[in-house]
Amino acid sequence: MIKREQFIEAKHKAVQMIRECGIVLNQNEMDEMDVADFGLNHLYVEGGQMLGFFNTNRVSAKVIAMFPRQTLPEHWHTAFDDNIGKEETIRVAKGTLYLCIEGEDTLNHAVIPDNKTHCYTARKEYVMRAGDQITLEPGIKHWFQGGDEGAVVYSFSSAAKCALDPFTDQEIVRITQIED
Ligand code: ZN
Repeated sequence: MIKREQFIEAKHKAVQMIRECGIVLNQNEMDEMDVADFGLNHLYVEGGQMLGFFNTNRVSAKVIAMFPRQTLPEHWHTAFDDNIGKEETIRVAKGTLYLCIEGEDTLNHAVIPDNKTHCYTARKEYVMRAGDQITLEPGIKHWFQGGDEGAVVYSFSSAAKCALDPFTDQEIVRITQIED
């Protein structure tokens, strides 16, 4: 649950961050922007601001603004219908992003939110800066965190059905609920 004022404030901040990258946004995209607290009620600790450009049956593109040290919780992209699951390329437009995926534990810069060790099992860390990109195969657990100045990243992928993606943290509610 996220309060309306907090939702609007976060959206404005995220739009500003994205525009500072020189990315042009239209009104509809801004209106539809998702400020996700994942039902955890601490947006600036665990959350993300996702702005979609398009999401057809085959391809999807969006931009994600991460506030300083904000963490997008660990999840993976599962198969749906006759699709093997989303393949996603994360490319940093601005700032630093700590991306963690399954593999050898090299966690060094990203900080797991308090009391959430069990919800962040993927510990192979990549430090990504503007121009860096990584492609994630379907089914690979991943999570990421904005650096001290936050980050703006592109997500280019095959068709996305984010509402179906499982999260390691069982407390998560993916669909954002806004409280007036
Ligand atoms: Zn993902």
